[in-house]
Amino acid sequence: MDLLFTADELGFRAEVRDFFRAALPAPIRDKCILGQRLTRDELKRWQRILYDKGWATPAWAREWGGTGWSAVKQYIFKEELHMAPAPEPLSFNVNMIGPTLIAFGTEEQKRHFLPKIASLDYWFCQGFSEPGAGSDLAALRTQAVRDGDHYLINGQKLWTSTAHHADWCFLLVRTDPQAKKQRGITYLLMDMKTPGITVRPIITLDGNHETNEMFLENVRVPVTMRLGEQNKGWDYAKYLLGQERGGIARVGVSKMRVQRAKELATRVLSGGRPLADNSGFRARVAALEVELKALEITQMRVISDGERSAGGRADPKSSILKLKGSELQQATAQLLMDVAGYEAMESDTAFLRGASHSHCAGNEWALTTAPNNYFARHVSIVGGSNEIQRNILAKQVLGL
Ligand SMILES: Cc1cc2nc3c(=O)[nH]c(=O)nc-3n(C[C@H](O)[C@H](O)[C@H](O)COP(=O)(O)OP(=O)(O)OC[C@H]3O[C@@H](n4cnc5c(N)ncnc54)[C@H](O)[C@@H]3O)c2cc1C
Repeated sequence: MDLLFTADELGFRAEVRDFFRAALPAPIRDKCILGQRLTRDELKRWQRILYDKGWATPAWAREWGGTGWSAVKQYIFKEELHMAPAPEPLSFNVNMIGPTLIAFGTEEQKRHFLPKIASLDYWFCQGFSEPGAGSDLAALRTQAVRDGDHYLINGQKLWTSTAHHADWCFLLVRTDPQAKKQRGITYLLMDMKTPGITVRPIITLDGNHETNEMFLENVRVPVTMRLGEQNKGWDYAKYLLGQERGGIARVGVSKMRVQRAKELATRVLSGGRPLADNSGFRARVAALEVELKALEITQMRVISDGERSAGGRADPKSSILKLKGSELQQATAQLLMDVAGYEAMESDTAFLRGASHSHCAGNEWALTTAPNNYFARHVSIVGGSNEIQRNILAKQVLGL
């Protein structure tokens, strides 16, 4: 395996970087640098720019708007996106429902939904988890009963992130309570304007509103909005979760944070000298950089193996990417908070949500470091918790 990029790949990296420099609106870039949260409109605006360029959905099949880039080029694209830094296209749309629809949707569903999913004209949220059905997702109890050409849905979803922004939701419901639990599940697309849906905010430790609980009371979803066959939803969901794990290492996000921490550390004093000169700080940064390099190489190995076995199932080694990728996202978020020192203790939720000025006494950049560190806790929970990834590694990679 050759781990060096080819001349063509290096040229591609330069092209992507130049495009981001020219096309990324400055207010969005500035908010990303400061660690502020973006609004719905800002996320839509950026995804539209990528869509117009033909770069919103690189991994999709070409006939539905994919770029046809190799896995290495897709990796380079993502890394440049994170380092720009620019927001990722909405994962629910681009990494989850889009590829699932391409694989299992009807022609009519694909034609109607895919362009709007790619452009973010339709914002999708994911209605999988429920109270008592997270890691053990197949235990879900939200029930759908066939009523003529509709399903009548009753139940509760939990942790439905961005449901308050969403136009549509892809959700799993139980259609056969008698069958073995994985067998009686159906996959539906639900218009969020349908009567009977109540979305209530969950404010997380960072003080922000990102996720929700969602109550469904006699919600009527047309049968035409079913994905694939009734009671086969588990198979489609498993396919989707494989897609979700693929992009989750986010090496570029961690690299960008380390770079930012190094730069800020030149401006912060520790014992009267720049923190950047402190030997403990330097050792910590060096250890993180070594781990990041190892993760990057592992990522390239998984990509290279994947290209050799094209069309195969999700590589169980991608669990290493999820595990180490999330640990490093958390370690680098913690690093930035530690660079801020006691200034990280000040809180200003309005500034976190994008207000242009805070009333803080110290450095504004310090204000977002604690909430972002707290929010980073979720990356080892979503997309299959790290304990679950360890189980996969033990069984499927180590054969224990
Ligand atoms: C911020 C945030 C956003 C989210 N967004 C969404 C969303 O948009 N849509 C959606 O559907 N879901 C979403 N989720 C839900 C997420 O997928 C679940 O939280 C996750 O699957 C874990 O489920 P749980 O919370 O029920 O915990 P549990 O499954 O109850 O797990 C509790 C603990 O037990 C461990 N554990 C469980 N089973 C095992 C096992 N077999 N072996 C070893 N350890 C085990 C877990 O690792 C964890 O530490 C979100 C969660 C968070 C925190």
